[in-house]
Amino acid sequence: MNILGTRFKVEHADLIPEGLFGDCDVDNKIIRIEQTLEGKSFKETLTHEKFHAMLRLSGISELLTEELEEALCRLVERL
Ligand SMILES: [Zn+2]
Repeated sequence: MNILGTRFKVEHADLIPEGLFGDCDVDNKIIRIEQTLEGKSFKETLTHEKFHAMLRLSGISELLTEELEEALCRLVERL
């Protein structure tokens, strides 16, 4: 997946033990999505993680608290 000109790998993973539905590793360019998610939940989680990547790649993330970044991603996933 191309995010702001950077190629990210999207992987399905077992994230429930970590208490996550998804995560975004900007250093290694990998977005992981919980393997049991499908349909709307999958799409929303991917959008959420993609927006984390956009905020981090652009440097905007550094201007935000962790809580505010998370709140913005939760908003965007529902657009
Ligand atoms: Zn998040």
